[in-house]
Amino acid sequence: MGIFGGTFDPFHNCHLTILEAFLEVTSFAKVHVIPAKIPALRDSPESSAEDRLVMARLGTKGLSNVVCDDREIQRPGTSYTIDSLRSLAIENVHQPLILALGRDAFDQMESWADWEEIFQLASLVVFNRPGSDYADSPRWLPACARIVNSFDQCSKAGQVLFLKNKPCYGSATKIRRLLKENLSIHHLVPSGVHEYIKSRNLYV
Ligand code: ATP
Repeated sequence: MGIFGGTFDPFHNCHLTILEAFLEVTSFAKVHVIPAKIPALRDSPESSAEDRLVMARLGTKGLSNVVCDDREIQRPGTSYTIDSLRSLAIENVHQPLILALGRDAFDQMESWADWEEIFQLASLVVFNRPGSDYADSPRWLPACARIVNSFDQCSKAGQVLFLKNKPCYGSATKIRRLLKENLSIHHLVPSGVHEYIKSRNLYV
């Protein structure tokens, strides 16, 4: 099963693009989209965890095989990916766990809680992100994971597949900034997310 975590402050079109590509790569296995309640390595989100969960639901509406999962929102304290993977591994003993993340997030993994254990529980599908350096994989990678060329090789944990996806230019930071400047974001977020942001007057 697939896992796609993030702050989703707000959920935007590049998240959707990644998710659609991830579903395709995983042959439409079930994917859990997991908003972080309290991200460990960045400023506090501007929107509440509940609003971000609603936006993830609205943004993924109509995508079959996607479940918006509130386990990090229900869990007390800082949201760590490893805790979600541990609980998903217990719930899904017979299914390999596949974590999707952008190259920027992947490059920072060394600072994540218990990051080496992530490779014992899951394989990773890493998406290109404009602005990230695609030339070299990080120094720490060979010690804990194996780079593979196709998803078929991800049936056991510890594999990393770098996707050569078309870059998607968009970020939640940019969207929050545009909203503060009272500029349009309708082309950057799914329509349901746009309506929700406007109706709740978020990010102004
Ligand atoms: P912010 O600008 O607030 O840092 P963000 O746009 O990076 O937010 P997150 O919710 O932090 O969004 O990201 C969730 C996941 O989606 C991460 O793995 C991140 O790398 C990935 N991601 C977000 N935007 C892109 C993008 N444009 N291309 C590739 N990956 C992306």
